[in-house]
Amino acid sequence: MFPTYRGKLEYVCLGCGKRYGIDELLYTCPSCGKVLLLEDVNRGQLKELGSGEYWRGVFDQRAATRETALRGIFRYYELLAPVMDPQDIVYLGEGHTPVVEGAKALQEHLGAHFMYKNDGQNPSASFKDRGMACAFSYLRYLVRSQGWKEILGICASTGDTSAAAAMYGAYVGDPIKTAVLLPQGKVTPQQLSQPLGNGAMVMEIPGVFDDCMKVVEYLAEHYRVALLNSKNSWRILGQESYACEVAQWFGWEVEKLCLFVPVGNAGNISAIMSGFLKMHELGIIKGLPRLFGVQSSHADPVWRYYSAPQEKRVYEPVAVRPSVAQAAMIGNPVSFPRVKTLAERYESVRPGAFQVVQVEEQAIMDATIQANRHGHIACTQGGECLAGLLAAREKGLVARDDLAILDSTAHSLKFSGFQDLYFRDAFPEAYEIKADHALANRPVAMLSEKEKASMPAEAFTHAVADAVAERLALHRL
Ligand SMILES: *Cc1c(COP(=O)(O)O)cnc(C)c1O
Ligand SMILES: [Zn+2]
Repeated sequence: MFPTYRGKLEYVCLGCGKRYGIDELLYTCPSCGKVLLLEDVNRGQLKELGSGEYWRGVFDQRAATRETALRGIFRYYELLAPVMDPQDIVYLGEGHTPVVEGAKALQEHLGAHFMYKNDGQNPSASFKDRGMACAFSYLRYLVRSQGWKEILGICASTGDTSAAAAMYGAYVGDPIKTAVLLPQGKVTPQQLSQPLGNGAMVMEIPGVFDDCMKVVEYLAEHYRVALLNSKNSWRILGQESYACEVAQWFGWEVEKLCLFVPVGNAGNISAIMSGFLKMHELGIIKGLPRLFGVQSSHADPVWRYYSAPQEKRVYEPVAVRPSVAQAAMIGNPVSFPRVKTLAERYESVRPGAFQVVQVEEQAIMDATIQANRHGHIACTQGGECLAGLLAAREKGLVARDDLAILDSTAHSLKFSGFQDLYFRDAFPEAYEIKADHALANRPVAMLSEKEKASMPAEAFTHAVADAVAERLALHRL
């Protein structure tokens, strides 16, 4: 049964507080230019409809639904974007990604207690699908309710936003088309192959993500396009589902958890804070978990802001340096004002519960390699979270028994090029990464083509088998 509750969503400006209706595409405040958040002004009704216990029951029951529209992020329909009809909702299998206990040997070796939430197991292999499912569902709602004949979705990307946008765009099809702008040479070959394969128009721009972002911002201001970056507040709503899933997985008891989240454009960490705050407001959870943003020292404007004493904090964009946490390599995060606003609210409920830690590139790469050697599928941003946990442990911010939930925001395969550079100890100097040779793993060539040509097929099989047995020190039966 599809929910009957409908909210009244409004854009709220984080600069001047003005409010706007949702029948228009807005990314920034028409009055002061600051970023927006979406707010359901009817949400008081959700409290009247039922207690926290009631809502926990609703979401737990929905876990078994076969209704496609409610199988993904919209299991939490009433909390996210309760304006759409079932026909608007796009479902490509996003959300409900597994929470996997850290391999025992790795937890012991590192002296840390953690689980990975593998958001790389989303359909385009990153968490961006959560936000994109919501943004495209809203676009469909708009197209239907406004009778639009065509609309172009466009985004700047460090790789994964464009992969997600192109995939949802291709699936939905007419009248939505998708175009993506990428920083030339700064997305991995796997990430580039995704929008190409999905048939999006792909344009490469010299520079870094921040340069692409300026271009799409200009386009969104001057042309009729649907901006699909997380500046688009509908993306934020969809990404709140991560918080809901963590809460549900732990039986709606989250106060003891420490969540680690990589911070790039800062949309995801904003969404996660917002999700927990909503659940707290409705009594679905009794308390908030602790939340740690993680940034590399090569792209750390949010860490710099929060590492200063409260009265001395000033926000300044930074020039990024090459980072293996490439999807978070952003010097001027669009969602910084959201982080600021939401962190204040978060801390007013639980003082000290929002922190940002900084990690070195070396630590990110070592952690990524270590995690995957233990059977995880951590991307470099997932490695960044593990490095963040170790840094927080060292600083005494997290105790040995505290359970950390690490967000592996993408699948390891998207970033296998960095693994390759590590194994060959071939990182360009700017990354400041040296390989630990004990961790290097390279394929071993067993016999040559020439040797193969020189002997009959059966002899070759035996020769290879003997060479393999010798290499592995096998004992003959
Ligand atoms: C986009 C992205 C990030 C950064 O998330 P923000 O919302 O921009 O802070 C981290 N990891 C991966 C894999 C991403 O694609
Ligand atoms: Zn404003």
